[in-house]
Amino acid sequence: MASINGDWFHSRSSSNLDELLTVRTLVLKSQKLEYIGFGWSGGRHGNQKMYQFAAAGGIQPSTMQTKIRAMIRYGFIKDGNTCPLIWTRMGSLWNDLYTIRNLSAAKQIYELTLSISLAIYAFNDTHAQFSTNPANGDMPLKFLFNNLDNNNTISLQAFEVLVDGHTARVGNNTSYWKGDLLNSGLFQVTNGNLFYTGKYTAFVNEIKNFVPSPLLTDADWETIRENPLIEISPFKNSIREIFESITQEQNIEEQITDGIFTAPLVDIISEQEEVAIPEVDILSNDLRYANSTRRVRDATWSIRIKKKYRYICAVPNCDVIGHIFVEAAHIKPDNVADEGTPHRAHILNGLCLCRHCHIAFDKGYFSMTDDHRIITSSKFSDIADQNLKTVILSSANITIKSRVDNRLPLPEFIQYHRANKFRK
Ligand SMILES: [Zn+2]
Repeated sequence: MASINGDWFHSRSSSNLDELLTVRTLVLKSQKLEYIGFGWSGGRHGNQKMYQFAAAGGIQPSTMQTKIRAMIRYGFIKDGNTCPLIWTRMGSLWNDLYTIRNLSAAKQIYELTLSISLAIYAFNDTHAQFSTNPANGDMPLKFLFNNLDNNNTISLQAFEVLVDGHTARVGNNTSYWKGDLLNSGLFQVTNGNLFYTGKYTAFVNEIKNFVPSPLLTDADWETIRENPLIEISPFKNSIREIFESITQEQNIEEQITDGIFTAPLVDIISEQEEVAIPEVDILSNDLRYANSTRRVRDATWSIRIKKKYRYICAVPNCDVIGHIFVEAAHIKPDNVADEGTPHRAHILNGLCLCRHCHIAFDKGYFSMTDDHRIITSSKFSDIADQNLKTVILSSANITIKSRVDNRLPLPEFIQYHRANKFRK
């Protein structure tokens, strides 16, 4: 049987759920201000902080690094060397579903994420061995699907030859690859055979015929891995179909409306709908905006604010960045009645803030001058969190971070915050 370059390289860290749960614990830990900016992938010798950090997952630093790198390759965590560890869109969705204990939907997102990463996984016989860009090597999953017999089956023996080559060292790689294929739900094992379960038919057909575009760069592929629904993603249509069937089946929309959780899933769905709603300052006067549901309106406003700030906390000396760590904060609160410029969905009535800064802002521990410099409250000593204090106090009198469109919040809204929320 035909084989492809070398053995099927594997990082030798499993894609099992408990591995993901270990990394989840580390993600939570990595959000603590004391770890922000900490290089989790660095040298371990004598690095006390590294041992402390790894201990959150109950493991040694070297094991921890292998597990995190594996979850980056499996598409759950974004590529990067410093804390905080950041979920990809799929990873963050899985985490939310797991957090609210919708374990059945969480499992489906876990399987889908794994399937996507296996589909675009590529390797070659160069030093790099594997690549995030499928154009740079051979694609094992495509190869496997095209080597199944008419019953969509391959014997485990033949599979071992595929994975480990015609060598005597059949074993480790095979068991890891088999584990991944079973975990993805794409394959099952019976009577010494590995067979395709029939899951994701349209997606699998695309994989079989997939030829990666030479126009897509390594960076493009990293973006696709982070969010396989984006425009340049080759499998976006079939993945979106799978995605929609999962959300319908699980009635996730209703859970969101009930306010059980709000962040990434709404974002993913609303990003599609957002395109239909024009971006104007006074969105509430626009018919298409008024006719959309409240969920879409809120989510749309919130996505836009966060995008404008590139998902970075706007407080000058706060370095929190990333989809699930930042929130869109109203400057003039949305529960205040309209008076003056309609403010609830106004694109200049929002700040992108991390969770800590958001709470401090809403509670009036800091505000802004009309020309957008941070002012801090004399009541600041009430706050116990020393890190938060340092971040905000050191930002005093500095202008907030700029937006991609270089626009700034309207003084009218800032004045409301200063007069009604700020604790002088
Ligand atoms: Zn912040």
